[in-house]
Amino acid sequence: MPEFFNVLPPADAFEVVRANVAARTEPELIATADALNRVTASEVLSPEVLPAFPRSTMDGYSVRARDTFGASEGMPAYMEVVGKVAMGRAVDVNLATGQTAEAYTGGGLAGGADAVVMVEHTQVVNDTTIEVVRSVAPGENVVQVGEDVRESEPILPAGHVLRPQDIGGLMALGVTEVNVNRRPRVAIVSTGDELVPPSEKPGAGSIRDINTFTISSLVTQAGGVPMPQGLAPDEFEAQREAAVSGIAQADILVFSAGSSVSSRDMTADVIGSLGEPGVLVHGISIRPGKPSIVGVIDGKPVFGLPGNPVSAMVVFGLLVRPTIYLLSGCPEPPEPATVPARLVRDIASQTGREDHVPVKLSRQDGALQADPVFGKSNLIYTLVRSDGMVTVPLDAGGLYAGDEVSVRLY
Ligand code: AMP
Ligand code: MG
Repeated sequence: MPEFFNVLPPADAFEVVRANVAARTEPELIATADALNRVTASEVLSPEVLPAFPRSTMDGYSVRARDTFGASEGMPAYMEVVGKVAMGRAVDVNLATGQTAEAYTGGGLAGGADAVVMVEHTQVVNDTTIEVVRSVAPGENVVQVGEDVRESEPILPAGHVLRPQDIGGLMALGVTEVNVNRRPRVAIVSTGDELVPPSEKPGAGSIRDINTFTISSLVTQAGGVPMPQGLAPDEFEAQREAAVSGIAQADILVFSAGSSVSSRDMTADVIGSLGEPGVLVHGISIRPGKPSIVGVIDGKPVFGLPGNPVSAMVVFGLLVRPTIYLLSGCPEPPEPATVPARLVRDIASQTGREDHVPVKLSRQDGALQADPVFGKSNLIYTLVRSDGMVTVPLDAGGLYAGDEVSVRLY
């Protein structure tokens, strides 16, 4: 019986990639507005201080705090209203003792003011007089200059995946362009005599190609550029040609299907024929996805994913996704979002094998429950009908109904 060559736990298989490839990052300056999910190429320092002027956090009146000391409902402080600080305008009103000016949320304070009294704690007496019924401390209801960011402060490290709040933070400081690493290009070769493009009606024994599209979508989600190379039949030369052309254009090469050890499976041989060092791992201790291949050709990572669509997606998440981040200059990819949930059925496994099981989430008396969606790994709808995945660790023989599990959301 044909054997797998060098079966490794998935985490170790990724370490093989890490040890054999380096990030070949090329920085490019792009518009911050277009930089969501891109990876910073260098540390970003703040060019400015934020906020640049003291800002009120409330609608009310800016005051010298000491003028309000001792004020209460029973003994209000009477203050003279000498103007207001309009939004978006320079401050043109100064306070002497006992004076106040209207202030608005996010607007500036009058000159000489050091606090803001909420409008709820004042009473209008007439056009120029208010009563203040609560005292404020210096700095109360005020955001100070530099309270958010100081000038020249490091605001983002290199190798950081930009999130919506990071885009906003850069824009707040006028940083409208940002240095990011080029997105890694991922060539995808889908193999199999039985495959037809999704736009075609499959003939007898044929099926539509799913993996080109799930893998392309996953590449995009991980910040890479998918480069599908079309369908290759189960012929060595045709696959080799697609691979040679794919790897020439890309930073990473991904094969779908043909990754096992039967006589029909030729991905390993094709990878071996492309260059050195070739196949480094064949077989990972995981279900689904055992027949997976990790190789390196002239410093570029190459993966052979199993043809079963569920297996291909699971193995992509464990090996290809972190590799895309690695090549983007981000050695630790963002952790997927997880939720705790209570398992409603047993999941059988074996020690020495890591299982990945799709689950459907539901609420029962306010608590989240995870119901395993069992099904063979060629059933794409087991994933369509689920909300996330549960992992049975390598060293566990299974999980039991009632166990609290961590569900990785898609
Ligand atoms: P293989 O890895 O070639 O043994 O394929 C395993 C299973 O996955 C077979 O049932 C294939 O028909 C199926 N398969 C292979 N490639 C694809 C694909 N691109 N889309 C959907 N199913 C596929
Ligand atoms: Mg096949």
